[in-house]
Amino acid sequence: MYFVARTGTGGWSPGYNLILKKYNHNQHKKSMGGTAIPTVKLMKKRILKPRSQASEYKGDKLMVSISIGHRMNKRLQAAIDRMAKTTERELTRLFERDVYAGSYGMDDENIGSQARMLFGRLWNQFEKMFAAIAYPVTKEMAVAVERNSAVTLAGSITKATEGLFSLSADAMMTAELKEVIAASVAKNVALIKRVPAEYLSQIETAAYQAITTGRGLADLKPALAKQGVKVKNWAHNVSMDQTRKVYADITAHRMESIGLDEYDWLHSGGSSKPRTYHQHVLNGRRFKLSDPPVIQMAKGKTPEVRGKPGDLVNCRCVMRPIVSFKRST
Ligand SMILES: [Zn+2]
Repeated sequence: MYFVARTGTGGWSPGYNLILKKYNHNQHKKSMGGTAIPTVKLMKKRILKPRSQASEYKGDKLMVSISIGHRMNKRLQAAIDRMAKTTERELTRLFERDVYAGSYGMDDENIGSQARMLFGRLWNQFEKMFAAIAYPVTKEMAVAVERNSAVTLAGSITKATEGLFSLSADAMMTAELKEVIAASVAKNVALIKRVPAEYLSQIETAAYQAITTGRGLADLKPALAKQGVKVKNWAHNVSMDQTRKVYADITAHRMESIGLDEYDWLHSGGSSKPRTYHQHVLNGRRFKLSDPPVIQMAKGKTPEVRGKPGDLVNCRCVMRPIVSFKRST
């Protein structure tokens, strides 16, 4: 008589991905220390400890280390600071030149064309700058998240099942998972490349307005400050949110590949505007990755959205994986 994990496809072969280990205290200790690679053994019921005869185990909730998001954010903030500093310096120079030129100064048309040339240069410079960092910043984040997902998922399962289960190296990287990661990287690269537009479009509009009103820098300074704060907040949110999403996608993919389909939805606080539907309806309920629940109701012409914790913008909900068994003979 054996225990096998319950999966949607009629069971996995033990020893392939999710490894059911022969229970052994010494080995358990060693594997908890993270050094020993567990042996592939099917466990017979009689060697289960009484407490271990549960038909299901709940893992630890799966959360990404926030330091990864902070690291990504730090690199983006540094680039944004450089962009903002250059923009302010150049615009100040443009408008001051106009003022100091006195009665021989440029007319509106002249300063307008100077401004257009300046913005052409700035767009070019910043687009290049963010295109250059987009891939390395994203890659660094994705690599760290991938590692973090492996460690937290393996830890969650090992701890929940008192060391009876562990994840094999095979489950850690599959061809499909590489595609999931590549798609995440592409999405983040595109987001980072949007930074110059998030900043410069508004500044450019404000600069032409300042020329038209003739108030110059007096009008422009508040716009520069406001837009600087806005784009920095945007980059911070993107860093934290994308890190969570990449983590959720990688981890969910791994869970599915080892036959772990079920999870408990856990709403985690910390958001200033929690979705009440997640907080009061989804929170604590059990769902399947293979049959995703509605995570956002239909609204007007917007259809309902189905998915998993973390899929919606700024959703900080997480999964607690469930390892369940059925008896087979
Ligand atoms: Zn949520």
